Amino acid sequence: MYKKIILKKGKEESLQRFHPWVFSGAISHGDDTIEEGDLVTVFSHNGTLIGNGHYQIGSIAVRMLTFDDTAIDCAFFEQRLRDALRVRQSLGLMRDDNNAFRLVHGEGDFLPGLVIDIYGNTAVMQAHSPGMHFSRDLIAQALTHLPDNLVRNVYYKSETTLPYKAHLDPQNDYIIGSYDTDVAMENGLKFHVDWLKGQKTGFFVDQRENRRLLEQYSKDRKVLNMFCYTGGFSFYAMRGGAQLVHSVDSSAKAISLTNENVRLNFPDDPRHEAFAEDAFKFLDNMAQDAYDLIILDPPAFAKHKSALRNALIGYRKLNAKAFEKIAPGGILFTFSCSQAVNKEQFRLAVFSAAAQSRRRVRILHQLSQPADHPINIYHPEGEYLKGLVLYVE
Ligand code: SAH
Repeated sequence: MYKKIILKKGKEESLQRFHPWVFSGAISHGDDTIEEGDLVTVFSHNGTLIGNGHYQIGSIAVRMLTFDDTAIDCAFFEQRLRDALRVRQSLGLMRDDNNAFRLVHGEGDFLPGLVIDIYGNTAVMQAHSPGMHFSRDLIAQALTHLPDNLVRNVYYKSETTLPYKAHLDPQNDYIIGSYDTDVAMENGLKFHVDWLKGQKTGFFVDQRENRRLLEQYSKDRKVLNMFCYTGGFSFYAMRGGAQLVHSVDSSAKAISLTNENVRLNFPDDPRHEAFAEDAFKFLDNMAQDAYDLIILDPPAFAKHKSALRNALIGYRKLNAKAFEKIAPGGILFTFSCSQAVNKEQFRLAVFSAAAQSRRRVRILHQLSQPADHPINIYHPEGEYLKGLVLYVE
């Protein structure tokens, strides 16, 4: 048993429904010695044991790891990782032509505060909670115990994900192994993953299925991949037979990564061009009807609930520009990855942008996050990626 936390009366209700968070306001009292990142055992007001979790200072005070008294040790992490791997195996994501996928998606894999993406033999691990930060060596060990020697290198990358107030001395470094290769494969397409300096774990694996869908719509189209980052959608569009593909991102680093990745798959292919430019400026300046397939995959406009109003205005403005300029018969792939914006709110923002353009628009597909980013049924907050594929007359 770990240090104790006792809840206020009635505050165990959401935990009895297996929601994995204890908010600070739900806590009556706890052991005096509890520190940031400690393992704690949570009890209801009347002394019933609820489970074990990681404690942290902030509005979410405990992230529950178990709903019984199971110890949180190497065997625990090994078991959770094996469970997560079994899900990915059943999804058919581990193939000769696909070795990039998310192995652990936080609450979705019953490991709140932990994200692990796999690129070939390298696992890139991010801790979002102090508790997971302190468990990093244990988790790295457990990763190397997975069957078939799946993971040989573990790169830990938490400089940007840990709460900065926790003063944890986060590190970006190999915990096990070292640099191997940084070329990974997604549905037969190759790409460099810059886990050292890139955003998140180095690649956005969450768009894999949506990129594949885009490929099917790309034949003979003039494609604009807005917010391209490492160019994921662009090389799928090229394989799908696009007439031309223009990739845009405000980050020069992203543009050079995109160019590298296009070269890896389609050396010397003149159909592709990349521009380091602001999205809104590019859309304002581009010619009417220049593109008939547009992807809008912006960064999260709302990182917190407080930014919701402005985020919705942002989505409306961005989409309005695309509706205004896209060629007749054009197809728009539009996304939001803001957790704070729900599906309905995003649709409303896109629909009002469509109405503003006075064009006839049909929904062809409603998209979400892929199955290797599962949603824990008791934690609906885990749903974050939303997308629409629209036909614009
Ligand atoms: N579609 C990408 C992921 C996009 S991430 C993929 O499939 O991998 C969001 C990207 O938007 C980042 O690369 C960021 O550099 C870029 N970005 C942020 N603000 C921007 C702006 N105002 N104009 C253009 N790009 C922007």
